[in-house]
Amino acid sequence: MPDNVRSVFNSLSKAGEQAYLVGGSVRDLLSERTPVDWDLATTATPKRITEIFSRVIPTGIAHGTVTVLVGSDALEVTTLRGDGAYTDGRHPDSVVFIKDIEGDLARRDFTINAMAWEPEERILHDPFGGRDDLAAKLLRAVGDPVARFTEDGLRVMRAARFAATLDFDIEKKTLEAIPVGAPKLVKISIERRRDELLKTLKARAPSRGLLVMKKFGMFDRLIDEVHNLQDDQDEPARGKWKQTVRRVDLCPAENALRLAALLFDATSRQQKPFKSLRLDKKTHKKASRLLGVGKIDYRSDWSDAQIRRFLCDTGVDIALDIITLWKADLRAGNEDCQIADELVDRVKRAMNSGDPIVAKDLCVDGDDLMRDLELLPGPHLGNLLERLLSHVIDHPEDNEKSKLIDMARRML
Ligand code: ATP
Ligand code: MG
Repeated sequence: MPDNVRSVFNSLSKAGEQAYLVGGSVRDLLSERTPVDWDLATTATPKRITEIFSRVIPTGIAHGTVTVLVGSDALEVTTLRGDGAYTDGRHPDSVVFIKDIEGDLARRDFTINAMAWEPEERILHDPFGGRDDLAAKLLRAVGDPVARFTEDGLRVMRAARFAATLDFDIEKKTLEAIPVGAPKLVKISIERRRDELLKTLKARAPSRGLLVMKKFGMFDRLIDEVHNLQDDQDEPARGKWKQTVRRVDLCPAENALRLAALLFDATSRQQKPFKSLRLDKKTHKKASRLLGVGKIDYRSDWSDAQIRRFLCDTGVDIALDIITLWKADLRAGNEDCQIADELVDRVKRAMNSGDPIVAKDLCVDGDDLMRDLELLPGPHLGNLLERLLSHVIDHPEDNEKSKLIDMARRML
């Protein structure tokens, strides 16, 4: 356990409260994975927690969660609680703070997430057999899966997510309950569903979760283009959806690339189908650019100038990712992908050659044009530079200041 986490345990213990490591961190430690975050559960009430620690954020006080800041870490410390009834299919109507850890574990979603570690006593609380399921690589709901999935619609999507990220099977009864719970998913906010999808896309092979999501309609009102793709997973033939999930698996685990892989066959590419996901700006922009190019019509007989033009059109910063996506598509369709490797080589050579590819590689800029040709500022300068660039992409030997100024004069 990192020092900061240990220090939070020590403070709670000094204050006479019991504390447990819970959730994903226990699961990850028991399966020799590195936890992404460290969640603590404690007998201290939220008010007590805010008194014990000097730097806190009242994240979800009503539900018992306080974020404790220690050093540069932020830890979620949650009061042991039992959930009341769920009538909205999203959140418990009420929560009651309790003192026993087993009651707290009973409200959690899957057995592997319902274990608690008490560091001082070195006791593992595992009332639902999470450790055995972890060893058997099985995802099993805590208690009655139908009831658990109907309480909170997000859980079916979490099931698909964990199946992918942990590479686990979904236990039979839990799997059978998914179609009952899945229609409740539309009650969950897009942001929470998107986050589960993005976590799924981080898996080594997201297909395992995506197939479950698609089969049970979990893309409904999340990404219509995927929801409407014909689901051919039970057919022996090579179908679009099968190729899609293979393409996603074959892309590096990066959100923009994998989202573009997921939407590669979408008919309305230009409308940026993942707009509905409300992604962060950077991911949205990159995924749009990747999707905007899609398949590449490269052939070995392309000239070096054509390679430079391809780089100029797509953007030097993203060209290799575009080829990676294309290669994943070729492989997913069992096509020869040597052509993509060849393009990578040629693109890298072009980038390192020093030959002009983008406007800033030109030996003149807007200032030179204004001074030497006595022009006023304005969009015509950009226009001229573009035409000059277009010329030197075909004739890199003409990228000299005097030649370019002469050429610009003639263009005017
Ligand atoms: P990750 O490694 O991705 O953080 P995690 O298991 O820690 O996975 P979180 O979403 O961080 O997942 O939730 C922490 C814990 O809270 C879970 O392990 C689980 O015990 C419980 N939990 C979270 N969401 C739900 C839910 N919708 N229903 C029931 N329990 C939940
Ligand atoms: Mg977590």
